[in-house]
Amino acid sequence: MSSRGVIIIGGGIGGLCAAIALRQAGLEVAVYERAEVYRPLGAGLSLWSNAMRAFEALGLARKVADAGASWRETVMHRWDGKVLSRLSVETLCREVGQPTVGLLRAELQQVLLRELGPGVVHLGAACTGFHADGDGVRVTFADGREVKGDCLIGADGLRSVVRQQLFPEVRPRYGGRTSWRGVVNVASEVIPEGSQFELYGPGARFGICHLGRSPEGTWRMYWFLLAPAPEGGQDAAGGHQEAVLSHVRGWMEPVESLVLATPESNILRTDIHYLEPLPRWGEGPVTLLGDSAHAMVTDMAQGACQAIEDALVLAKLLREDSDRVRALRSYEARRRPRTAHIAELSLQAGSIRYLRNPVARWGRDLLMQALPPSVALNQLRRVLGYDFLGA
Ligand SMILES: Cc1cc2nc3c(=O)[nH]c(=O)nc-3n(C[C@H](O)[C@H](O)[C@H](O)COP(=O)(O)OP(=O)(O)OC[C@H]3O[C@@H](n4cnc5c(N)ncnc54)[C@H](O)[C@@H]3O)c2cc1C
Repeated sequence: MSSRGVIIIGGGIGGLCAAIALRQAGLEVAVYERAEVYRPLGAGLSLWSNAMRAFEALGLARKVADAGASWRETVMHRWDGKVLSRLSVETLCREVGQPTVGLLRAELQQVLLRELGPGVVHLGAACTGFHADGDGVRVTFADGREVKGDCLIGADGLRSVVRQQLFPEVRPRYGGRTSWRGVVNVASEVIPEGSQFELYGPGARFGICHLGRSPEGTWRMYWFLLAPAPEGGQDAAGGHQEAVLSHVRGWMEPVESLVLATPESNILRTDIHYLEPLPRWGEGPVTLLGDSAHAMVTDMAQGACQAIEDALVLAKLLREDSDRVRALRSYEARRRPRTAHIAELSLQAGSIRYLRNPVARWGRDLLMQALPPSVALNQLRRVLGYDFLGA
């Protein structure tokens, strides 16, 4: 590639969005992804309206929305079905001007890959390190390849090789819980269309949302369970379903029936890790984007949304300033406070969701019922309505 291009390591949601935004800003871009192929991951994703605003700026909001289903209301329940609170997400979406959408990760990936077209993403390219000097940056790969560019964006996720080289002392922290995620097609809508359900039980949280209709006309449902577990724990072979059921047996329907209807191969288990906010994201012509810079616990469902915001801000600043290194530092200065704030909100939200003690849970549930929805809505308004491009 020409030495004037931008090299992106990692073709996840963050890296692909960055590539689209940078190309639209007139830059030459190449993405290097470790995976040999894009596998259709059996997991859903919530894209809040802040992320949808970013997709609108990329001209992709309609395509992304059409690939999933939007929701209007989050209904929070106690495990046995008692409604604790209702959050009218629709009000905020109207203010922001974009819906909040649930969709399959794999479908989002396809929308992004189609937008990029052939020749931009190089698969089977596992980055092993880089060397930066006054002339730009040289990146090395496991197969011995080397490429050269003007600057390097490490969008290579939680275990980022680029971050490890920049800041070897930084280690992801375990959030104390693990997640199971399942996708299943069912004949009926199961929960009201436009609703997202959350259920709180002893030490665990279960969520259900629609991802739209499958091509056969069935309802595609996404569910997740978060529960405390030792780091690195594994389920027995073929035992994901049983592990999930051990936490949610007897919970209100449709929890058990959804889990039972989900094929083992459609259930993913992932430990939840996060990064303490980094004091710096880069050096010279190198920076980080997405989880490599700010992996966060999932309690605000904002990790990918923030990666998408990063992509837009990075492209805007690189377009506006021909001094690449200065543009990267401006990008970091804008994005670090925003992402640290969301990461902190995510930790706070998580601190009351996985209580085991019955008295503590009783108090939490009472509080959820007593708090006017406007309190939660106001907090969410600051997250969704933030002017990330103008800030
Ligand atoms: C259970 C769970 C639920 C979640 N739900 C939501 C949600 O609803 N909404 C939301 O916004 N966020 C959610 N998130 C967070 C979201 O998944 C992440 O924040 C998002 O995927 C980060 O995107 P990324 O592109 O930065 O990193 P990743 O998605 O991790 O992508 C990194 C890419 O880099 C590649 N790579 C890694 N190392 C190398 C290397 N050395 N060389 C080349 N390529 C490399 C990887 O193969 C990968 O493709 C959730 C996370 C979890 C665990």
